[in-house]
Amino acid sequence: MKFAERMSRLGTENAFTVLAEVQKLARAGRDIVSLGIGDPDFDTPENIRNAAKAALDRGRTHYGPSAGTVELREAVAAYLTRSRGVEFHPDEVVITPGGKPILFHTILAVAEPGDEVIYPNPGFPIYESVINFAGARPVPMALVEKNAFGLDLDQLRRAASPRTRMIILNSPNNPTGGVLSRSDLEAIAEIAQEHDAWVLADEIYSEFLFEGGHQSITQIPGLKERTILLDGFSKTYAMTGWRMGYGAAPRAMAEKIAQLNTNSVSCTATFSQDAGVEALNGPQDAVRAMIGEFRARRDLAVAALNEIPGISCVMPKGAFYAFPNVTGACRRLGLQNAEEFQHAMLYDGSVAVLARTNFGSRNEGEDQEYVRISFATSREMLTEGLRRIRALIETRS
Ligand code: PLP
Repeated sequence: MKFAERMSRLGTENAFTVLAEVQKLARAGRDIVSLGIGDPDFDTPENIRNAAKAALDRGRTHYGPSAGTVELREAVAAYLTRSRGVEFHPDEVVITPGGKPILFHTILAVAEPGDEVIYPNPGFPIYESVINFAGARPVPMALVEKNAFGLDLDQLRRAASPRTRMIILNSPNNPTGGVLSRSDLEAIAEIAQEHDAWVLADEIYSEFLFEGGHQSITQIPGLKERTILLDGFSKTYAMTGWRMGYGAAPRAMAEKIAQLNTNSVSCTATFSQDAGVEALNGPQDAVRAMIGEFRARRDLAVAALNEIPGISCVMPKGAFYAFPNVTGACRRLGLQNAEEFQHAMLYDGSVAVLARTNFGSRNEGEDQEYVRISFATSREMLTEGLRRIRALIETRS
């Protein structure tokens, strides 16, 4: 069978591959603790589910506008205006089935052969995959442990060039839990302005912040005009399966995203969008409760990880992941790297974690081993998973 050449450049998200393997092992009777996937274990809050049911009963089952319903675009613009403290207009908002299409559509809309796109590394693997798919060159922006997974400014300055068409940032970050400081954002802003580049600010974890308030690059004067802000409902409202996300961008870019919607998915499900209006405008207590629980899990997980011989873990400031350094543990277990650690933990320890290389290739000079631990599971499961990791390391070393 023949496929287009571009398919050879398309990557994937291994979290889904590992999830499938975990489910296969579970079906075969194995008891696996999954600390792999970033899918909140909470149910979508009841008021949001009820809004979707009511919408279905009202007949909201037809096509809607490609850019999203007017009601939801208004609700998103109002939410962004109050949460970012920057004025957003409904015409700048495009609703998509999940946040992912905003990445896909905006990268395809601006990047082509000869262009470079800077992306966070470690980072969400879809960035690198789609940049390659578009025929552009992915250039990593290293996030380093010694800066609590903030920027290495010298490295970023070296990464930028007149060919830089777009800079992607993700704060709070998946997989490190790191948050970019105001001075990090200012440095990115300066480089974007110098090279007249777009900024794609993936702020999908903006509500998952354990210290201080969320800072958006759109707050820096002149930046909103060149930024596509990505956010959505998947994480904040535990709605991963609903496929509800959005972008906010200058009108010309919003129109391109909507046109790509028309060409690919037509629109986002209308009754889901009605539920999205309820999510943003209704009571937020369920969100606050979920974030409180994630904080408790983070504290528990980081304390437990730092007790394990050969593991050290920086305190994540946001998102719902820990990104421990497991170099010492690999050595104790006689393992070459974090991939072998992931394999040993799954098959011998019965606990699923994701190796650093699932989040981009190693940065230049990077010689430490890391894995991602997701808190998207109960405290009991998290404690049990970490107990298994510790047990395997202690019995084998
Ligand atoms: N961006 C980041 C950093 C993510 O971690 C994810 C999901 O894991 C997404 C975007 C995509 O979210 P969605 O499920 O809304 O498409």
